[in-house]
Amino acid sequence: MRTRPEAIDFHCHLDLYDDHEALIRECDADRIAVLAVTTTPKAFARNVQAARGSDYVRVAAGLHPQLVHERASELPLLLELLASVRYVGEVGLDAGPRYFRSLDAQTEVFGAVLKACARHGGKILTVHTVRTAKRVLDMIETLFPEDRGRAVLHWFSGTPAEARRAVDLGCYFSINEGMLSSEKGRALVAGLPVDRLLTETDGPFLQIEGRSARPRDVTRCVAQLSETLAAPALPTRLNANLKELLAAVGAE
Ligand code: MN
Repeated sequence: MRTRPEAIDFHCHLDLYDDHEALIRECDADRIAVLAVTTTPKAFARNVQAARGSDYVRVAAGLHPQLVHERASELPLLLELLASVRYVGEVGLDAGPRYFRSLDAQTEVFGAVLKACARHGGKILTVHTVRTAKRVLDMIETLFPEDRGRAVLHWFSGTPAEARRAVDLGCYFSINEGMLSSEKGRALVAGLPVDRLLTETDGPFLQIEGRSARPRDVTRCVAQLSETLAAPALPTRLNANLKELLAAVGAE
């Protein structure tokens, strides 16, 4: 991944936009480094095909926890992909009202993913933790040691104590504009170590002024985050964080 981009969108669902291929060209033109997450293992191949030749877009192989109840049968394909991919996501757990019924199946899938990532090593994961921060951290602690890769907690909404525990486990955090829209969210983010921060849009799910966020909108998040942290040199810091994250897993 390019380490001196204009900005970093470390979690975006590029394949859920109508203009997926044009959007990849837009990211290259704007020099936005994007981690394109996928929600099913079957979507990985066409995402890689679409991003072929892109300087700024990298693709992660994932199985979204909200889809586990209907897509658990694709786990073997994901495990196969994990032998060769650098980036993994979207993976994780969701115990929100619509998905808690599949939490056992989600736990099985996420556990298998963490074990495979630990076995192969050198992985960077982008992890969903809705109402499951404790369980996700327990699993990372037991199944995915720091020397096998790094987890980036995406749209983290756990407690400050859970955030500190995540920091101790080597986790990074990808911050989006939605997290900065409340006082509580800003206080949580301000308590995180600045050298563990990245930015994201989670587009198209994040809405900005009534439309889906696009990767270039991540510059708005960077500006708001600079203000929240009173850190004017933040863009440089964020690029350094990306570089350190890649170096930590032996990537260029
Ligand atoms: Mn997402």
